[in-house]
Amino acid sequence: MKSIKEIYKIGRGPSSSHTMGPERACLFMKEKYKNANCFEVTLFGSLAKTGAGHRTDYAIKQTFGEIPCLIYKDTEKTELPHPNTMEIAAIRNGEVLGRETVCSVGGGDIEIGGRLLTKDAGEIYPESTFNEIAAVCAEKGITLADYVSVHEGADVWKYLGEVWDQMQKTVYAGLHTEGILPGGLGVRRRAKELRSVGKRERNLIKKENYLISACAYAASEENAAGERMVTAPTCGASGVLPAVLYYEKELFGVDRDEVIQALAVAGLIGQLIKTNASVSGAEAGCQAEVGSACSMAAAALTALHKQGILQIECAAEIAMEHCLGLTCDPVGGLVQIPCIERNAVAALKAYNASSLAEVVYDNRKISFDLVVRTMYATGKDLSACYRETADGGLAKLYVKNFD
Ligand code: SF4
Repeated sequence: MKSIKEIYKIGRGPSSSHTMGPERACLFMKEKYKNANCFEVTLFGSLAKTGAGHRTDYAIKQTFGEIPCLIYKDTEKTELPHPNTMEIAAIRNGEVLGRETVCSVGGGDIEIGGRLLTKDAGEIYPESTFNEIAAVCAEKGITLADYVSVHEGADVWKYLGEVWDQMQKTVYAGLHTEGILPGGLGVRRRAKELRSVGKRERNLIKKENYLISACAYAASEENAAGERMVTAPTCGASGVLPAVLYYEKELFGVDRDEVIQALAVAGLIGQLIKTNASVSGAEAGCQAEVGSACSMAAAALTALHKQGILQIECAAEIAMEHCLGLTCDPVGGLVQIPCIERNAVAALKAYNASSLAEVVYDNRKISFDLVVRTMYATGKDLSACYRETADGGLAKLYVKNFD
């Protein structure tokens, strides 16, 4: 299994597969064909259908900068290596220097010619299921965070520190910004207001609900605005984990090192899902994005609350199990409706899963590994219109009713 650093990428929103992935693909081609004086990009599948709403065109043009770039969209072709496929041709004075087919496979990662392109594409963990990892931890008497440290090296703590710094900046910025999000839907930013309401609220359950939701809205609204954020595991789902960690920090003053260790545990959960299933909405629906984020957040919370491996596994499993079947149907192809609200609901669900796990962990019938396989199988069964094409669900009915 690969590094957990793959799960946390710092960059610009609003979509890891539709902006970060294409940006990396264009940078790769720019670097490979330094003497090209024009590029032609053809977007297929989900990139072609929802690219405009996800600002794919904008990300591509920004990446090529001064070099002219023609962008085409082919929504007809269905025989594709991945639902997010693009073809990039490097051209010099009308002559094609080279052409690559690139798949944006989720979380900002890309595959070129079937090979995953990451800074560190190596397999660094010998184990690839939770069950195997738990067995190693039990045998050696170590925690999940220790397990991460053994395989990633000391470097990982510095990286996770940067991740946590950016997450805090993102939530803070979102909590202090008002206005309308770009894209034309007229979606108003609500994080600041939710926080004010939460501070005034006297009913403790509602108060907690508002304050946690405010943090999730804050990070998700920053993403939707194209600001800097951290994938966890994707841009669309980037509000869930920062929300629960930020709230824990504010409420209990949790130690920075403890948060960073919880990020390591959450990263492990995210990487297990990515390895054995998918974190791409285009491949397996929103259960793969927000469902994975919810699972990561539940595991992080349980680790923060100093629970053991069994409880952490149970929390991650419960969180994912109750996101099964979650479809991806972004209105207008924008990462706003239902995405922002969904991040808030998932953050609350992560708390629920973590609390339940602390009690019911000792008599479970469903393992984390099984629920991950189930999520993937369910994703494969989902109609394409529920996998980030904006062809079904809310995306379809909203247009029909209101436009
Ligand atoms: S519905 Fe879920 S998977 Fe789809 S764009 Fe929104 S957050 Fe991502």
